[in-house]
Amino acid sequence: MRIDLHTHSTASDGTDTPAELVRNAAAAGLDVVALTDHDTTRGHAEAIAALPEGLTLVTGAELSCALDGMSMHLLAYLFDPAEPELLRERELLRDDRVPRARAMVAKLRELGVPITWERVAEIAGDGSVGRPHLASALVELGVVPTVSDAFTQEWIADGGRAHVVKHELDPFAAVRLVKAAGGVAVLAHPGAAKRGRSVSDSTIAELAAAGLDGIEVDHMDHDAETRARLRDLASGLSLLTFGSSDYHGSRKDIALGAYTTDPEIYGEITRRATGAFPVPGAGGLPA
Ligand code: AMP
Ligand code: ZN
Ligand code: FE
Ligand code: FE
Repeated sequence: MRIDLHTHSTASDGTDTPAELVRNAAAAGLDVVALTDHDTTRGHAEAIAALPEGLTLVTGAELSCALDGMSMHLLAYLFDPAEPELLRERELLRDDRVPRARAMVAKLRELGVPITWERVAEIAGDGSVGRPHLASALVELGVVPTVSDAFTQEWIADGGRAHVVKHELDPFAAVRLVKAAGGVAVLAHPGAAKRGRSVSDSTIAELAAAGLDGIEVDHMDHDAETRARLRDLASGLSLLTFGSSDYHGSRKDIALGAYTTDPEIYGEITRRATGAFPVPGAGGLPA
């Protein structure tokens, strides 16, 4: 069984539509894929409608969190999408991305970049707008060669010249909300130091005590040493360990299924979750 539990579609900052994403997941030989768009579940209905036979969808989202000014991402799986408190938080998180992206456009214009909000909004479509959309606009304008090159202090990395913070949830509150909605809570790429500071071992231990179910270990932003350290930490704290691609279509240089999660871990999250069930593919809509 090949299981990839962290992907993004056009419902946030990926480039595959949810329907394309599930078709590509089946073509990549996956048996289980999770759709975890930033701060939204909006892509799920389309993914389910297009789900190929033989592929199972795990519904999820990646929630924007911050602790002491440091951003972190919490993956939430199989929660009840209608649970009102978590639903309201997803809306707050997603809606605040718009004024934030507009403020970043204003900063870039002050820096002499002829970027417009209209173009960024067009690139984002109806997805949760984020820095990767701004980065695509900067690539179009020839300001940087690739999306990833926009994530520097010169431009839109955390603390960069044109960076603006967005509304983010306290991760302890987020774990509580996810669990209360029947979901499973997994800390995404906790050792991704190139995005800023990495999450400390003591914070991971405190989150584990607060109900965190697991952490991502195998992720493109973790080197071998980080993976070994996180695996040790998880084992000491009885946390589940995950491997995932964090696929973003053409906005990131990583393939679906590049990293995968153990079937036993997948089985465990389906036993722990009470908010939703994995959705088996029934054949989906014709391409
Ligand atoms: P935002 O949620 O708008 O703050 O944007 C953060 C997103 O940008 C992350 O979820 C990643 O998808 C992407 N990102 C962060 N750092 C990089 C990077 N160095 N290269 C490419 N994409 C990045
Ligand atoms: Zn993203
Ligand atoms: Fe993330
Ligand atoms: Fe992600």
